[in-house]
Amino acid sequence: MLSIKDLKANIGEKEILKGINLEVKPGEVHAIMGPNGSGKSTLASVLAGREEYEVVGGEVDFGGKDLLEFSPEDRAREGLFLAFQYPVEIPGVSTVNFMKTALNQVREYRGEKALTAVEFLKVMKQKMEFVEISQSLLNRSLNEGFSGGEKKRNEIFQMAMLEPKLAILDETDSGLDIDALRIVANGVNKLKNKDNATIVVTHYQRLLDYIVPDYVHVLYNGRIVKSGTKELAMELEEKGYDWIKAEADSQF
Ligand code: ADP
Ligand code: MG
Ligand code: MG
Repeated sequence: MLSIKDLKANIGEKEILKGINLEVKPGEVHAIMGPNGSGKSTLASVLAGREEYEVVGGEVDFGGKDLLEFSPEDRAREGLFLAFQYPVEIPGVSTVNFMKTALNQVREYRGEKALTAVEFLKVMKQKMEFVEISQSLLNRSLNEGFSGGEKKRNEIFQMAMLEPKLAILDETDSGLDIDALRIVANGVNKLKNKDNATIVVTHYQRLLDYIVPDYVHVLYNGRIVKSGTKELAMELEEKGYDWIKAEADSQF
């Protein structure tokens, strides 16, 4: 589904990603962990196609296509979903209307016909129950004045509506409380199936108490320096990142 080979990216003159390799298959959940400033959010942003980042080397294959050739919008239409660490607020645009436009754009791209208002509301009701989000929240302007937990719930709702092939959730530094963690985790677990995949970016091991990843990778100084299973996350929780840093620093 996703194959990243020797991906290198800069911000301005600064080298941030120094050769990332990662393979994600359908049905898998990958966790990317690592100390602050390692490049985790950069990796998520580069995959989403954000302009501040310049790809200077490597390849990203997404479902047999060159992901880096696509605009951010087309990446989303191809089935990539990125939950931003800090979701934008859009005053004056209700969450419902935003979602309807987004979903119909995706459908159009896939060659499916746009949903009528009635059809859309039906789908929305199902997904609302699924992620336990309230109608009153959806009637409000997108993310405006939403609490952290409400933003998370809305993000997972968007994911449920769009049914992406690959979801990348960047949870680092966002100060998620335990309720928000559960919302994210429940959403990911419920939406998981054999055809889709998730990459969860997280600084802390505690999210992984709720989401059991198939693979855990440690990103440090722009490289994936260690990969393993859930046990690796538990080892990190116990021992911190210093031993990984020491190992990697002696290698590069
Ligand atoms: P992480 O998510 O692992 O904490 P980031 O990807 O946010 O790491 O940051 C990786 C490195 O890139 C850090 O050294 C950070 O200071 C730098 N960086 C991130 N965004 C920018 C930016 N917009 N301009 C300059 N440097 C940046
Ligand atoms: Mg950070
Ligand atoms: Mg980050």
